[in-house]
Amino acid sequence: MTQETWTEVDEYIFDALVPSDPALEAALTASDEAGMPAIAVAPNQGKLLQLLARTIGARSILEIGTLGGYSTIWLARALPPGGRLVTLEYYPKFADVARKNLDAAGVGDLVDIRLGEALDLLPGVEGPIDLTFVDADRVNNPAYFQEALRLSRPGGLIVIDNVVRAGAVADPSNTSDEIMGLRRMHELIAAEPRVDATALQTVGMKGHDGLTIVLVKA
Ligand code: SAM
Repeated sequence: MTQETWTEVDEYIFDALVPSDPALEAALTASDEAGMPAIAVAPNQGKLLQLLARTIGARSILEIGTLGGYSTIWLARALPPGGRLVTLEYYPKFADVARKNLDAAGVGDLVDIRLGEALDLLPGVEGPIDLTFVDADRVNNPAYFQEALRLSRPGGLIVIDNVVRAGAVADPSNTSDEIMGLRRMHELIAAEPRVDATALQTVGMKGHDGLTIVLVKA
């Protein structure tokens, strides 16, 4: 299988099950025009996040890593009236683009974008959180998992993106800070009696990567 095939299959899935959405497309275009990296989740991954949030009836969502607000829009659309989403972003320029994208998508009033270093912002986030999406700097994932667990309600979910990195996570010769952060996070999850978890490899238009899904036990 090649990247070309993975992309073709993703396009088939989008056509079959994840129809194009003007607000989401506009968010990607605005992010691109602002010179931001094309590292948002793929449409079918955004839909997965939304389905997970809807499945657990999420009313409070935390996202670590906003970029242009693409995954934020997917998640915010899962919220019922009165729901709330807090998303954390380091770069003011990215947060500005995200604010415009969220307002244009009609979910701006549900979303609180907090600007700064996620590790500094997390102690000020109010729990309980129903679903946390971790999608920022992998080196800090051990701490992000611990903070997400502290904030989560029993029965909540923690979803962590980019946990495979084209297989690097399973390559013992790779001892980069990013990969060591991912392995340490998985060690913490495995040793934590309050959670149960699995991880899935993903292939598609974004290459070969993966998601870890953690259930905080009721
Ligand atoms: N969740 C977004 C989506 O799918 O549309 C993509 C997020 S992008 C992969 C990662 C984001 O995390 C970037 O916007 C980056 O600036 C932000 N980020 C990275 N390290 C951070 C940190 N330490 N604190 C806050 N934000 C951070």
